[in-house]
Amino acid sequence: MAADGRGGRADRQRSVAFAGVIGGVAGAALAGHRGARAAGAGAVAGAAALAACEAVARARQRPGEIPPLWARIATSAALVAPLGWAAGRVTGVTVGADRIGADAVVVAAGAWTAGICAQLGIRVPVGPQRGQIVHARLPRTDTAAWPVVLSDEDPYLVAFPAGRIVAGATREQAGFAYHATVGGVGGLLAGAAGLAPGLREAELLETRIGFRPVTSDGRPLLGPLAGGLIVATGHGPEGLTAGPWSGLAVALLALGQPPVTDLAPFDPSRFQA
Ligand SMILES: Cc1cc2nc3c(=O)[nH]c(=O)nc-3n(C[C@H](O)[C@H](O)[C@H](O)COP(=O)(O)OP(=O)(O)OC[C@H]3O[C@@H](n4cnc5c(N)ncnc54)[C@H](O)[C@@H]3O)c2cc1C
Repeated sequence: MAADGRGGRADRQRSVAFAGVIGGVAGAALAGHRGARAAGAGAVAGAAALAACEAVARARQRPGEIPPLWARIATSAALVAPLGWAAGRVTGVTVGADRIGADAVVVAAGAWTAGICAQLGIRVPVGPQRGQIVHARLPRTDTAAWPVVLSDEDPYLVAFPAGRIVAGATREQAGFAYHATVGGVGGLLAGAAGLAPGLREAELLETRIGFRPVTSDGRPLLGPLAGGLIVATGHGPEGLTAGPWSGLAVALLALGQPPVTDLAPFDPSRFQA
C-alpha cells in the first residue's frame, strides 16, 4: 500500500494495533468465565501475543505478499474465539417440559454434580463418600438436653428429643451404593456401646445413608466453570456447617457482585494441569 518507508511503517503499526485489539478481545473471552480479574489478564496476554505475532509476520512480509499462513491462522482463531465463547454459554435449565432462562446457573448437586456437568462435557473432580449413620431410642428417657459426644475416632453421639440417639458415621469409598453394611453398622454400634454402655438397652430404629461430596484436596469447589455456569460442591463432611456461607458466595458471584472473600483456594479448575 505505501510507496514510502513512512507509509509502510504506519501501515504496519496500524495492523499490529488492530491485531492487539483482536487478541485482547479473544483473550478476555477465553478467560472471562473465571472472573473479571482473569478476563483482564487474558485480555493483556491475548493482546500481547497477537500483536507480537502480527509484528513478526509484517516484518518478514515482502512487498506484494499476503501475510504468512501461521499469522492468518492466529488472527482467524482470535476472531472466532469470542463467537465460540458466546455459543458455549449456559442460558438456563430445563425442568421436565419447562425451560427456565437464566443469566447464570449454579450446579449444587452434591456428589452428583460431576454427572450433571458431564452432560455439558465438563469434568468436575468431585465424588461420593458414603456415610452410614445409626438411629436408636432410649425409651422413657429425656434426651433433649444431652450434649454431643465426640471421640477421637468415629462414632460420635448426638442426642435429640424423645429419647433419640444418633451414632455416626462411616466414611467409605463405595460409589453410590445405597445400602447399609454389616461392617458399617456393626462398627458404629460397637463404638457407641463402648462410649456409652447404657445404649446396649436402646431400641434400634434405623440406619440412614448419605453421600458426602468430596474432592481430592478436601476443599470445596466454588466458582465459575464456563460461560454462565457456576459450581458449588465438594464440602465433604462440613457442608451443613459451611453451606450457608458458600451459598452466599456463589449467589454474589451469579449476580456479578464482589465476593465475600477471595475464592481462589476453591477455584473449580485448580486441578487442571
Ligand atoms: C452421615 C453424614 C453425616 C454428616 N454430618 C455432618 C455434620 O455433622 N456437619 C456438617 O457440616 N456436615 C455433615 N455432613 C456433610 C453434609 O451432609 C454435606 O457436606 C452436605 O449435605 C453437602 O451439601 P450439598 O448441598 O453440596 O449436597 P447434598 O446435601 O448432597 O445435596 C445435593 C442435592 O442435589 C440433588 N440432586 C442431585 N442430582 C440432581 C439433579 N439431576 N437434579 C436435581 N437435583 C439433584 C440431590 O438429590 C440432593 O438433594 C454429613 C454427611 C453425612 C453423609
